[in-house]
Amino acid sequence: MNLKNIRIVLVNPLYASNVGSVCRVMKNMGLNDLALVNPRCDVTTHECKQWACHANNVLKRRREFKALTAAVADCGLVAGTTARIGLYREHARTIRDWAPRLLAATSTGRVALVFGSEDNGLSVDDLALCTQFVRIPSSARYSSLNLAQAVMVCCYELFSGTKRFKIPTERTPEAPSGMREQMFKMWRQSLLDIGFMQEQKADHMMLGLRRIFSRGQLSENDVRIMLGIARQTQWCAREMRRLGGALPPPKN
Ligand code: SAH
Repeated sequence: MNLKNIRIVLVNPLYASNVGSVCRVMKNMGLNDLALVNPRCDVTTHECKQWACHANNVLKRRREFKALTAAVADCGLVAGTTARIGLYREHARTIRDWAPRLLAATSTGRVALVFGSEDNGLSVDDLALCTQFVRIPSSARYSSLNLAQAVMVCCYELFSGTKRFKIPTERTPEAPSGMREQMFKMWRQSLLDIGFMQEQKADHMMLGLRRIFSRGQLSENDVRIMLGIARQTQWCAREMRRLGGALPPPKN
């Protein structure tokens, strides 16, 4: 899989803001090959750069073509995106469904993802060049997405499909049993000290606590916090007694 082998092709884009946004989307999602077919806007304007934000390099390395045929000439798969499929409806699949096929093809060659213009979409001739038809699921009451947002949904699915991104997870390991038992022992004593439970009910109550704690992950740091709370609770209970203060009556 090689995301750098995916070319985003915009046919006759109308707004520089959309072209800029597309550059940003591409960089966010690890792509950098942008092709414009007869753009109707000036992509050298400040507005376009502003929308591209930190993806000016994608904008700079764009290439412009006179015809879609030329823009995709060196691409194996050519996926056309359209909200209005008409004639080709039966062959359309969602981008999520197509992603594995498109990604697999990037290992050996270039893949084009083609988008129509804001006002006209892709023509029948444009779609004739496509080997795949992509539909982004959307409401029947207003099915056509903003151009840059349509590009985002597609690029996001492709990027996610590589499974290369991992959400950083908790780094401390699961607390070892010995530490956990020390925690339960201290909590048992603390809950007795503050009169939350009486000795004869304590074992039963502790089973309940064990059940609660075993539902999620319990790291060494978590156990350290719980030990600290128990220690402080015991100290408070001792101080209260020493100062002759009244603790609430024990629960039974
Ligand atoms: N007015 C045009 C739509 C333009 S939206 C029309 O009626 O066809 C601009 C481009 O975004 C479309 O050409 C297509 O490439 C893409 N797009 C928007 N919504 C989409 C959807 N639901 N599924 C697939 N592509 C979509």
